[in-house]
Amino acid sequence: MKEFDYIIIGGGCAGLSLAYELEINDKLKEKTLAIIETREEYKRDKTWSFWKVFNHNFDDCVIKSWNNFTINSPDSSHELTNKKFPYQSIDSGKFYKKINSKLSTNSNISFFKNLSEINSENSIIFNSVHEKELDKSKLWQHFQGIEIETPKNIFDEEIINLMDFNCDQRNDVHFFYTLPFSKNKALIETTWLSDLKDQSLMDYDLQLENYIKNNLGIKDYKINFTEKGAIPLFYSSLKSENKIINIGSAGGMTRLSTGYTFLNIQEHSKYIVKNIDNIYGAKIFNLGKKYQFLDNIFLKVLKDYPEKMPKIFFNMFKASSDTVIKFLSNKSNLIEDLLIILKMPKWIFLKKLF
Ligand SMILES: Cc1cc2nc3c(=O)[nH]c(=O)nc-3n(C[C@H](O)[C@H](O)[C@H](O)COP(=O)(O)OP(=O)(O)OC[C@H]3O[C@@H](n4cnc5c(N)ncnc54)[C@H](O)[C@@H]3O)c2cc1C
Repeated sequence: MKEFDYIIIGGGCAGLSLAYELEINDKLKEKTLAIIETREEYKRDKTWSFWKVFNHNFDDCVIKSWNNFTINSPDSSHELTNKKFPYQSIDSGKFYKKINSKLSTNSNISFFKNLSEINSENSIIFNSVHEKELDKSKLWQHFQGIEIETPKNIFDEEIINLMDFNCDQRNDVHFFYTLPFSKNKALIETTWLSDLKDQSLMDYDLQLENYIKNNLGIKDYKINFTEKGAIPLFYSSLKSENKIINIGSAGGMTRLSTGYTFLNIQEHSKYIVKNIDNIYGAKIFNLGKKYQFLDNIFLKVLKDYPEKMPKIFFNMFKASSDTVIKFLSNKSNLIEDLLIILKMPKWIFLKKLF
């Protein structure tokens, strides 16, 4: 069986980002790479959005960037502007196409459906696939989004609505998210923070239909694209075997308080490529112990006081836009952390410390 210097298990966001980063940094001229991916075809299946707090390789896959965003609680709306860190949405279809056409030019890179097709004994393995099904009773961010198109121009395309809590909470945390790609096209998502056992929260079609009709006042539209997902807001207990380096969601790249993962994957890929010649000697990359600590308290509060979360999120966004964006993108300094902590209800958070 054929041997490879590197193996990437899972050719999704993390696997392909790493392969691309290796390729553009000329690390696959003399080395070989096998990507193990089960999907039959690559097509648009997700929209990855984030604040661009550093440069990445995929500006040409961006659907749109915004400098303004709002957050709505049931009784008020708050608007923030930030010119330094735009919010961007990436079309996964363009992302897959760009990477796969680049990788196809290098004959040292091969795709396989199953690891058993190759000899992996002496390879450096990067893994982005969860070992087993994850625990449905833990906390998840689960959602469905639809890209709608209207016959008339009705959206303000310069401003996104990051969180709209003007909706049924059903004893959990629920909000809608609207990204206007143009005056007549927008991605609208219904998002829940809850366990995955309660099927009654998953009538996403109906939730979207009601929100679009009753909250946005839109009656006439067609649906161009649907995405659905569930992001674990906990780290899976993957064993860090010394020959396997976990990446992507399975490698702890999700920020647990927000679900944001895409840009962390890009940072991790750059880190791996920088250290590729001594990867086993490099420190294991993580998002930062302070965020793990703070997110852990935040999620404990969220679990026990879901009804307080709309106000907590709303107040967090009362900090300056630089501060809140850097905090949510794991780029804040201690003073900025403190400014966010001061916006939180002290007693509840203190109780969850112990
Ligand atoms: C619909 C959706 C929208 C999201 N939106 C955002 C967002 O806006 N911003 C953000 O920061 N994050 C977002 N996320 C979270 C995160 O960025 C994505 O989940 C991202 O795709 C994670 O990358 P990954 O490589 O870890 O997993 P994936 O991209 O899911 O890649 C895993 C790959 O492994 C393959 N695979 C599975 N089993 C096997 C197997 N046994 N053998 C070989 N291959 C296998 C799969 O086919 C897949 O291609 C979103 C997630 C979803 C699901």
